[in-house]
Amino acid sequence: MAPDHQKIKTVSKAFEKIAADKNFRLFANVEVGSDLAVAQLQEHYDAVILATGSSLGKKLGIPGEELRGSLSAAVFVPWYNAHPDFIDVDPPLDTDTAIVIGAGNVAVDVARMLAQEPSELDRTDTADYAIDALKAGGIRRVSISARRGPEHAAFSSPELRELLRLERTTIVMQKSDIDAAMTRAGDGAGKDVKSNFDAMRLIVETPPGEHERTLEFLFHHTPKQILGTDRVEGVVFATPHGDVTIRCGLVITAIGYQAQGIDGVPYENGRVVSSDGRVQANLYVVGWAKRGPTGVIGTNKSDAAAVVALLVSDLKIPKNKSDIAGLFTNQMAVTQEGWQRINQAEVDAGEPLGKPRKKMFRRDQMVAVSQGVDREVGSS
Ligand code: NAP
Repeated sequence: MAPDHQKIKTVSKAFEKIAADKNFRLFANVEVGSDLAVAQLQEHYDAVILATGSSLGKKLGIPGEELRGSLSAAVFVPWYNAHPDFIDVDPPLDTDTAIVIGAGNVAVDVARMLAQEPSELDRTDTADYAIDALKAGGIRRVSISARRGPEHAAFSSPELRELLRLERTTIVMQKSDIDAAMTRAGDGAGKDVKSNFDAMRLIVETPPGEHERTLEFLFHHTPKQILGTDRVEGVVFATPHGDVTIRCGLVITAIGYQAQGIDGVPYENGRVVSSDGRVQANLYVVGWAKRGPTGVIGTNKSDAAAVVALLVSDLKIPKNKSDIAGLFTNQMAVTQEGWQRINQAEVDAGEPLGKPRKKMFRRDQMVAVSQGVDREVGSS
């Protein structure tokens, strides 16, 4: 979740409530597939639910995509969110122009993170190293490129409207693009498209501020090639007016995700194969791993409720109580109590800085804090 969306993050309270139940147990820092097999879980529990999401970014499949400075949102987002496996991503921010490819809400999140004045992130739980890197970097212009017109954009209107609240960034959309899209869509435009048009018109009609930073929308721009020798130098787009080259030093693709495979689980087309969420006897799947990478938190809530109803209807004779704690090859499992120590240490470290939390980002430090060994949230 975007670190500048703190209000939406309060959804965690729903999980905290469940975690407080005496029958809840947490085994974190355990990788299913390597530390533990899915079959072992199935053996020990009445039901196993995979809620592993989609963590791999889809590829454009165009030349230059592997150049330094071309990366997926699936890498960039966990980098700025302090995911311990992504702290070494080192995105090159020593460029004045970044292009975000894709017309969905992930593209808007990424573009907003790059286009806002980085000090606006000081009061969020964005990774400290990311705020420092953004402050030291030179990005002043961010373009979101959509391969189709505004009527086909996958943005949602609250996310578009929110852009106007950026205090030190000018948002640019061409009025002619929106007018033409409205004409094309005509009376057939659905509720969401109409709502997007309203938000887009608001953007177009808002007088541009005199800001150093710009976030612009490019419609009907299909990426053909990423240019560069050692690193990204530009993107060639096919447009209705012929090819257009835009110079830039950073390209982030936000064009969808695929689920990462786990041994023993059937996958097809980037998601777990299931029938309404039932994978095999006592194995279920929910969320993006089940449906593919679409839908917001509310979509996942109702999806999960339906799968749990199916699971409950399947439950026949309960298994004997058994425990998986002794099965780990990795003995560093973090319990709920351990997580609470990490959580408290992060919140305590953030408080004097006016942040909701100051995130730890090293796995060994988190494990140490979880065991009560070290409570200090350092920056290294
Ligand atoms: P998305 O909504 O499916 O958008 C993906 C975008 O990538 C589409 O505009 C698609 O264009 C484009 N695309 C796909 N392949 C492409 C290609 N080869 N070249 C150029 N463009 C390409 O996916 P997302 O942004 O990853 O979001 C995933 C889900 O999470 C969505 O349901 C989203 O609403 C949700 N989400 C919500 C929030 C929020 O509520 N704040 C934040 C983040 C994510 P075409 O339409 O032309 O295929």
